[in-house]
Amino acid sequence: MEPQNPAAESRAAKMIREVFESGRPVSYVRTSEEQRVAAVLRAVRLDGDVLPVWTWSLTEGFASQDGVRESGTGDPRKALDFVVAAQGPAIFHLKDLHEPLRDHPEIRRRLRDVYDACRDRRKFAVITAPVRYLPEEIERSVAFLELRPPDAIELTDFVRRETGVPPEAADRAAVALQGLTIDESRYALRRALAVSPTLEPECLPALYQEKKLLIQRTGFIELIDDAGRLEDIGGLDILKKWLLERRKLFQLRETLAAEIVPKGLLMMGIPGCGKSACVKAIASCFGLPLYRIEMIEIFSGRHGKPEGAFVEACKMMEEMAPAVLWFDEIEMGINSTENAGEQGRMFAFFLTWMQEKTSGLFVAATANRIDLLPAEMIRKGRFDEVFFVDIPSQQEQIEIFKIHLNRRKVDSAGFDFQQLTTFTNGWTGAEIEQCVVSAITRARLADRPVLEHDLISIAAKQVPLSRTMKEQINHIREWAFERAIRASANQSGR
Ligand code: ATP
Repeated sequence: MEPQNPAAESRAAKMIREVFESGRPVSYVRTSEEQRVAAVLRAVRLDGDVLPVWTWSLTEGFASQDGVRESGTGDPRKALDFVVAAQGPAIFHLKDLHEPLRDHPEIRRRLRDVYDACRDRRKFAVITAPVRYLPEEIERSVAFLELRPPDAIELTDFVRRETGVPPEAADRAAVALQGLTIDESRYALRRALAVSPTLEPECLPALYQEKKLLIQRTGFIELIDDAGRLEDIGGLDILKKWLLERRKLFQLRETLAAEIVPKGLLMMGIPGCGKSACVKAIASCFGLPLYRIEMIEIFSGRHGKPEGAFVEACKMMEEMAPAVLWFDEIEMGINSTENAGEQGRMFAFFLTWMQEKTSGLFVAATANRIDLLPAEMIRKGRFDEVFFVDIPSQQEQIEIFKIHLNRRKVDSAGFDFQQLTTFTNGWTGAEIEQCVVSAITRARLADRPVLEHDLISIAAKQVPLSRTMKEQINHIREWAFERAIRASANQSGR
């Protein structure tokens, strides 16, 4: 059960080692993962030594690492007497002590004796409990620790112990499990092993399934699994080139200076022109899972105070890294109009968080009502780049038509797209897709292949969004002109 690679120390082992090194003899770890703490305590090295670990519970009393029980130590008072009397360096893992601590002054007193008996003797008592209960009289003597979810080192070690798969497969699974507890990871692994006993890449969806369950419990974060491909997006060539360059830097993030590691991008623009499709494609292009934070849900009041829910969401995502994190309609949560107090605090938190967040999170924010966003949000430094996604040019429209026809297996080799696009002036990508779907429906009803004419006759009748919303669209364009770079080189000009 020792770590496969003792040189690599997990975040949890480091936290506990540092507390021990600082000389604190009694610690209280709030966690529901008792087994995990036990594994971490066995792995902790002090000056290169691994200390013997004794484990105590109300039902079993004390047992040594080899499972040998110490009779007569089931009573909490006796257990603490045992710690006081023990000779030589050791770690004492106390599992159920929080209840007796709350109910019995005598136990609180004896814990203070433990403190004195362990100090400077390389003896360490570690209480684990799922709740924080620290009586006032012992609070200052005890180091209180929160156990964060296991990091990549701990998870890789766990996967290798459980499955014996080669390092590459264990690393891959560990990345997918990031953010889960060890117990949750165990369920996820079982699902994955049923798909591939050697944890080949085809088992990843099974691992993500467990994660999805965990994430869904929050109600405001979603794990998106219908990732698209960059090749399935028409036009937006400047944005695509930028993303491919950033992918390279992001993959090298461990070796690069923090200021060069890509933090994320903000995409604003006309609805239906591919912002959401691009975010999905970023995740698959970077080879990372995609999580979406629903700003509207956060502000619904269904998850407590919006500020708290937002902070919780951001913190939780740090545990999920590496990942792409999508703030959809970010202007719904962070804007310069309503609820100045709360919005202001959330905005300040977001700006700091963007600067300090873990380098393994790439943030993709999308916005339609860009004029609502505070100026500091757009200013350089928060996001690496701010892109404006406009209505596609004629050339881009042709690309989008072809993509959607090909995707639906329509042979369009003989179609005159130049002529077709004379009817689609000002159309968005979403409208082009809808036109393709309507043409296919019409052809299927008539039991014949799709003809160019189907597309043209549908296009000729449709009034595009850009005509009905002309003023708003002009406003968005003017606003974006000075503040963002265009996502495509082709000006639509139409
Ligand atoms: P909204 O703000 O309304 O969500 P959006 O800009 O995010 O709009 P998408 O949701 O990405 O737009 O677009 C809707 C659909 O239109 C996409 O799923 C995609 O199929 C299609 N689409 C839009 N733009 C493009 C494009 N450039 N290339 C290919 N398909 C596109």
